[in-house]
Amino acid sequence: MFDALPQAQFRLEGMAGKRVAANTANWLLSAPIANPGMLEMFRLRDRKPVPKLVPWAGEFAGKYLISAVQALRLTSDAELKKLAGQFVNDLIALQAEDGYLGPFPKETRLKGNWDLWGHYHCMQGLLMWHEATGDTNALKSCQRAADLVCTTFLDSNLRVRAAGSPEMNMTIIHALGRLYRLTRLPRYFRMMQEIEKDWESAGDYLRTGLAGVEFFKTPKPRWESLHGLQGLIELYRITGDARYRTAFTNHWWSIRRWDRRNTGGFSSGEQATGNPYAPTAIETCCTIAWMALSIDMLQLTGDPVAADELELSLFNGALGAQHPTGRWWTYNTPMDGVREASAHTIVFQARAGTPELNCCSVNGPRGLGSVSEWAVMRAPDGLAVNYFGPMSFQGKLRDHTPIALQIETDYPLSKRVELRVEPLASREFTLRLRIPAWSKTTTVRLNRSASTNAVAGRYLELNRRWKAGDRVTLDFDLQLRALPGEREAAGKVSLYRGPLLLAYDQKWNDFDDDAIPALDLPKLAEAREVSLRKKEEKDLLLPWIILEAPAQGGQVIRLCDFASAGAAGTRYRSWLPVMGASAGQTR
Ligand SMILES: [Zn+2]
Repeated sequence: MFDALPQAQFRLEGMAGKRVAANTANWLLSAPIANPGMLEMFRLRDRKPVPKLVPWAGEFAGKYLISAVQALRLTSDAELKKLAGQFVNDLIALQAEDGYLGPFPKETRLKGNWDLWGHYHCMQGLLMWHEATGDTNALKSCQRAADLVCTTFLDSNLRVRAAGSPEMNMTIIHALGRLYRLTRLPRYFRMMQEIEKDWESAGDYLRTGLAGVEFFKTPKPRWESLHGLQGLIELYRITGDARYRTAFTNHWWSIRRWDRRNTGGFSSGEQATGNPYAPTAIETCCTIAWMALSIDMLQLTGDPVAADELELSLFNGALGAQHPTGRWWTYNTPMDGVREASAHTIVFQARAGTPELNCCSVNGPRGLGSVSEWAVMRAPDGLAVNYFGPMSFQGKLRDHTPIALQIETDYPLSKRVELRVEPLASREFTLRLRIPAWSKTTTVRLNRSASTNAVAGRYLELNRRWKAGDRVTLDFDLQLRALPGEREAAGKVSLYRGPLLLAYDQKWNDFDDDAIPALDLPKLAEAREVSLRKKEEKDLLLPWIILEAPAQGGQVIRLCDFASAGAAGTRYRSWLPVMGASAGQTR
């Protein structure tokens, strides 16, 4: 339905743009140098004493590379491009004669640990680098790794399930699918079919998806399985068999229904449980996997619900996992609590040479980088615009006509979005604009024509002959919405302003989180924005927005955007008490 545009260039400005710049300057450009063991562990794999690595250590290099390629679509940073190119060359040089691309000793290659999972990430990173630069060595390296997978598990009686850790190691099917579609080498598809058989004694994604079993009730509901579900899409793309598509979409809807948090984050103690209200950990890796799945869902179906989900995840769960300085990411970004750097919450993953590396620190940057895969997508008859923050986009229409889009706005802080369309030559195509489900009334104006209303939760389709300078003006509905909680969050609400979840933060209130006065929901319309903007533009710790909301006894609660809440180490809450027994709702 929709395609990502891996060759397009995006420039994000505004809040998200600052976070991209911080991520590049303070993480991507230093991570492999400050943590040289990211690659050195490959070099030491057969040295003594045998290094005591975490079973997933082989993933760090791949996750880093994936995030670097994504970031290059957002920044074109020359220094990052050079560093990533060197990183790829070093990684390829460390590949063993037999194609092995991991950090474990020779006798165990691919047969234990989460070694196939590590290869999955490295192969995906190499494929993306090849796609971005045309570097054929990266493709060859990826194929050599895939060939070793086939030699080990296809040309012998050994099955992938014998490697253990099935929800991790069987994700190799996703990378094999991408590689098969690129090379059409039958062995890779045959290997996928064998893994599909092994699923039946592991995650069983196809049969449970077809039967409509809720994802949290499937045999392997841990987050790593989400990357296995991406394998369903590959099988669908290769075979056209609608069963794979149905199984995938059923699982996606099930996770959204039962396990997506108010922050757009996913997981409860590293897996699906069927309860999005529990005060359990929301791991950054899990939210990243959920976003990857939502991008697939959007590509597959063109359903704007998936784009709404990506916006929610980006502005809240994902950016909430990143410290505004870009120097660290969390492991857990709770709905209520504090922000801790992953480098101390899961410090057990650190080793000499990799002090800052853990599953989440290398994975979190994908939350930002993947904006390049969904902000603007190509539809068969034009483009779909899903992201409305200030941005410029340069890409191509299906007929290769270069086209630029400029979005001038303060969104999501302000409701007005001005979109300028700049095709190199005038062309007829359909411009799809996502009208978020939360925007009850949205007005749209094309050039100087009269305003019209657009339907919430749909794409507005504008088909015409577009010419340079055409302009679309959108006004979204940012009135506050209250989402009532259930179970552990019963009697409380989450407040949203557009896509932004709002949160109490100790830093902006005189009372502590055990004494938050109940919100006066009937008076919610009286909430006022406290002017912060433009005051200290350079202060990264300043929230994007602060609102004063009316509460019990004429008190006021100051609420800030969730992604900024707790940035100073203060306590925050996104589930807020409300007056009266029935929480009521203005959703
Ligand atoms: Zn993690």
